This record gives sequence, C-alpha cells and structure tokens, in this order.
Amino acid sequence: MAEAVERLQQRVEELERELAQERRRRALGGGDGGGGRARIEKMSPEVVDSNPYSRLMALKRMGIVSDYEKIRTFAVAIVGVGGVGSVTAEMLTRCGIGKLLLFDYDKVELANMNRLFFQPHQAGLSKVQAAEHTLRNINPDVLFEVHNYNITTVENFQHFMDRISNGGLEEGKSVDLVLSCVDNFEARMTINTACNELGQIWMESGVSENAVSGHIQLIIPGESACFACAPPLVVAANIDEKTLKREGVCAASLPTTMGVVAGILVQNVLKFLLNFGTVSFYLGYNAMQDFFPTMSMKPNPQCDDRNCRKQQEEYKVCVNLSECMRSYCIGQKLKKEQLFRFAVQDKWILDFLKFSFIHCASKMKILFKVLSCFW
Ligand SMILES: [Zn+2]
Repeated sequence: MAEAVERLQQRVEELERELAQERRRRALGGGDGGGGRARIEKMSPEVVDSNPYSRLMALKRMGIVSDYEKIRTFAVAIVGVGGVGSVTAEMLTRCGIGKLLLFDYDKVELANMNRLFFQPHQAGLSKVQAAEHTLRNINPDVLFEVHNYNITTVENFQHFMDRISNGGLEEGKSVDLVLSCVDNFEARMTINTACNELGQIWMESGVSENAVSGHIQLIIPGESACFACAPPLVVAANIDEKTLKREGVCAASLPTTMGVVAGILVQNVLKFLLNFGTVSFYLGYNAMQDFFPTMSMKPNPQCDDRNCRKQQEEYKVCVNLSECMRSYCIGQKLKKEQLFRFAVQDKWILDFLKFSFIHCASKMKILFKVLSCFW
C-alpha cells in the first residue's frame, strides 16, 4: 500500500513538471496557440478583410488624421506593464506604432487576472517577456525591446537613461515619448528625474488605490509642471511610502478603471504624435460621479529638481525668441512660405518651424539657427 502511494506521488510530481513545461512552451509560442500573420511592408488603405490597417487608414478618409502612416516612425517607451501599461502597449501595438520599449521587473501572477491582457497560463513568466510574445503575435510589424529590471536602482537607472536617449526607431536617436504606467511614487520620481535631465516629453498615468479614479498628465519639461513641481502628499511630507502599506492589505483594482485610464492615455498619445484634436495636459477620471476634470499646470520656479528649473529657463528664452521672430516676420510682412524658402536648405530648421511651439524646450539650437537666418 505504502509503495503504491509513493508511486502515485512520483507520478503526480512527474505530471506536474510536464504540465509546467508545456505551459511555459505555450506561453512562449511553441504551442499551437501561435500562428499570427506575416509582416506587412507598407500600410495600405485598401478595404479588404485581410488588411489589419484598413480601419485605421480610414481615419485619413474621414479627415481626422492627415498622415496615419506616420505612426510607424515613432518609438514609445512604457514603464510598468501592469493593469494600465499592458493595455496601453496592446492598443499602441494594434495601432501599428513603430517601436515599443517595455520596462518592468515583475512577474505575471494569478492575482493579476482581475485585469485585462495577461492570461492564467502566463503566471510565473516575466511581464515584459509574456507581453512581448503576445504583442508580437498580434502585430509583427512593431519592433519590441524589453527590459526586465527595476529602473529605480542606480545601475539600472543609467541603462534606462541610455535607452531613452538612444533606443528610438533608429538606434542612437531618442524615443518620441515615455509613458509612466507604474504604481508607486518612487518609480514616478525616477522617470521624472530622467525626463527632466534629458528634456524628454512624457505622459504620466495613475489609478487610485480604491480603484475608482485615475488620471493622465502630459509633461513637457520646462513648459508644464513636472512630477516634482507639485508633489503629491506622500512625497511632500517625506513619508516612506512602504509604511503606508500593511501586511495582508493590498490596493483595490478594477479592469474597468484601468481600461478607461489606458484608453484616455493612448488617445492622448495618438493625438500628440499624429497631430489631431486637442492634447490634454491633465485629464482626470472620477468613476463615482463620471466626472472628467481637465486642467493644465505651470511649472514651479522653486521646483526641487534642478533640471526642471534649468528646462524652465530654456523654455522662457525659447518663447521670448519665438515671439521676436514672429514680430520680425509681421514687421517685414514676411509670409510663412517665404520663411520656408529661407529654411528649406536646412531640414532641421524646417522641422523646427513645423513643430516649434510644442517641442521648443528641446530645440534651442535649432531656434538659434533660425534666428541667425534673419539677423
Ligand atoms: Zn518641476
């Protein structure tokens, strides 16, 4: 009898091992769950059932977006691939973004299954690895770069900064946008520090611990308030965030609120990158009252972050110089077309003139070049 029980126990262990292996194989695409489609060289507006981009390209025909294909030229970094970040990554993948860089150090857990995106068979895998597999299968045209580490350690922070500066669609160029989808202040402040130093435009997102409110925020260093300009209560009072969390108590989360926040975040990203509609600097979501407050916040001249203050100075100079340039053009009765003729020799200047007002904090050198054409 004892022998039989032992044999049975061994067999159960064997089968458990095989099951774990099979789950891992399937999660990584070795199983029949794979499939997917071949890569598509050029986005086409052709209306056929086999074209994954026909509905997106229809935005051009409807007069919403003038150049939808441009989405393939952008690289977006997502920090935190949890309830908001994973859905954000999926939406951008389905929209045909050029490149996604994913940063997260967590593993998929069954406790995450109340949210969208991850599936039970992926439990135990790293979030970035599992996400990359799923996303690549949905859209193989997107380039992926994943980093399974915590950005807040000194060593990883340097690497993180390096990938933001050089991990664009073309190696050596910076990414176009950083999205913060993390769940703690320490990681948010780390992203804030990096973006202030690099002059990198980013968007922050968050969902409250009681799961019924959230927000998104666009941060253009020097132009709008950074995360340190208006510190949240916990940071301002210098309270250790970890002391707020008690053993056996966790934050609440709902797939609905997280889905809404991911939706308004990606909507803002698309409007920002593809230049349509009004881009929000801050958009809140209160699920209890169905209230969506908006506002914009000026940076704090006394911000604790030295690089934020530096970006504010640069931005001020930029605005003043742009005003000078505009007055000069009006005084000389110079039309936009003539201004373009001056600039057409130099692609940088042309780019500046097209995007000056939104990107001007990081385009100081170009502005000086533009001005040197006039004086
Ligand atoms: Zn600041």
